[in-house]
Amino acid sequence: MRTPWRTSRAGGKRRSTVHELIVDEIFYSIQGEARDAGRPCVFLRLSLCDLRCHYCDTKYSWKRGRELSSDEVLAALAGHRCRLICITGGEPMLQRDALLPLIDALLGAGYELILETHGMAPLDGVPDAVCKVVDVKIPNSFGVVKGVDKEALYPTLEHNLTLLGDRDQLKFVIGSRDDFDWALRFVERHRLGPLGDRLLFSPSYGVVEPHDLAEWLKTSGLPGRLNLQLHKLIWDPESRGV
Ligand code: SF4
Repeated sequence: MRTPWRTSRAGGKRRSTVHELIVDEIFYSIQGEARDAGRPCVFLRLSLCDLRCHYCDTKYSWKRGRELSSDEVLAALAGHRCRLICITGGEPMLQRDALLPLIDALLGAGYELILETHGMAPLDGVPDAVCKVVDVKIPNSFGVVKGVDKEALYPTLEHNLTLLGDRDQLKFVIGSRDDFDWALRFVERHRLGPLGDRLLFSPSYGVVEPHDLAEWLKTSGLPGRLNLQLHKLIWDPESRGV
């Protein structure tokens, strides 16, 4: 697997401006999850996150990466023969002031975009053309950084649910049967059943066996989708840049 470009992990002490993005890595791989699983895809991983999920497999993104201008990011993305870009993190929407203009520029250049987000930062302003994959957090699965009010996060998520379009998807990472039951209640409470197979259920890697989650999904009656992480089947699960 080639990793043709990656930012320095050293970070920097310069202050960010609205024209700069704090980037952890850019790499070309295969989209491992959700509707576009299996497609070649360039990943733009933005640094920083305000949550601390127990199962997070990108903890390195919690630290500041390198500050890059939008033009530098665009040039790095254009260096790959691929028109599908996944903006991920960290939590990309923590950098909304710099990210939204970049999204506009990428759409204007004809790219197809996926935005992976925890959905607890406002998604207002994200164009409908962007495919949003919202990773709905189950309350016992995460902590928060100092200064963040965990209870205040869910009203933002509920607002974001009202912004979902026809291509957007909700993902639940399931670490136990209790987590699955919480997800079912969440779907029912917010009347999300019509999303059908855009409701994604992922086994927490190494914690829940895929066949257990498959059985729970089958017996639930929901037309949701079992969501396995292809990249962890193809490459070493601990690998970066894949
Ligand atoms: S929201 Fe994503 S990046 Fe942030 S801690 Fe959770 S899994 Fe990791």
